[in-house]
Amino acid sequence: MMDVAENLEQIKFNIGQACEKSNRNPDEITLIGVTKYVTIERTEETINAGIKNLGENRLEGFLEKFNHFGNKVNWHFIGTLQTRKVKDVIHNIDALHSLDRISLAKEVDKRAESNVDCFVQVNVSGEESKHGLEPDKVIPFIEEVAKYEKINIVGLMTMAPHIEDKNHLRNVFGKLADLKDTIQQKKLPHAPCEYLSMGMSNDYEIAIEEGATHIRLGSHLVGS
Ligand SMILES: *Cc1c(COP(=O)(O)O)cnc(C)c1O
Repeated sequence: MMDVAENLEQIKFNIGQACEKSNRNPDEITLIGVTKYVTIERTEETINAGIKNLGENRLEGFLEKFNHFGNKVNWHFIGTLQTRKVKDVIHNIDALHSLDRISLAKEVDKRAESNVDCFVQVNVSGEESKHGLEPDKVIPFIEEVAKYEKINIVGLMTMAPHIEDKNHLRNVFGKLADLKDTIQQKKLPHAPCEYLSMGMSNDYEIAIEEGATHIRLGSHLVGS
């Protein structure tokens, strides 16, 4: 396995190129290292390489890593979160990237001690295997969530399908970006919606060109 530091160097170069192509500043991009496949040792190597944001998609993985590293880094919960597990993560994360239903919003609101930054997960591609709201359900959902005062909608998140077709990927990311802009323009107090969490190891350059502000990299950065 390559050193995380070496992987990071290559990824930073690629981020730079994608930003140059799309006239963006690399400082706008938050790189989240997804440690779900790897050990504590490899996670430590990731932190030592300079990664300040880590993502986990399962409660058990999150707790294992959080109990070890605590607040040395910012934590992002990126996977489906069961309602009964909300109380075990909500106090210790910087952002929840997978808000996808009212029952979850209600439970987060009930359990949290202060406001929680959330991304609404959108199933742009319409694949049945993917979690998230259908695009045309997103705005009504965000309007309904206004009554849960601790929910702060900071942006939208999607997972693109596992395909090589770059035009199709670009289309998926572009649609999420358009939806984000529409919501942002509404200037809802509980939904500034300024961020886009999109782009993984296979597609982050395209995601950046389409406006991603948070990319989530597991296999190519940390390992799998
Ligand atoms: C696993 C995972 C990632 C990282 O995937 P890679 O392809 O390994 O970079 C990103 N986002 C979510 C939601 C994931 O579950």
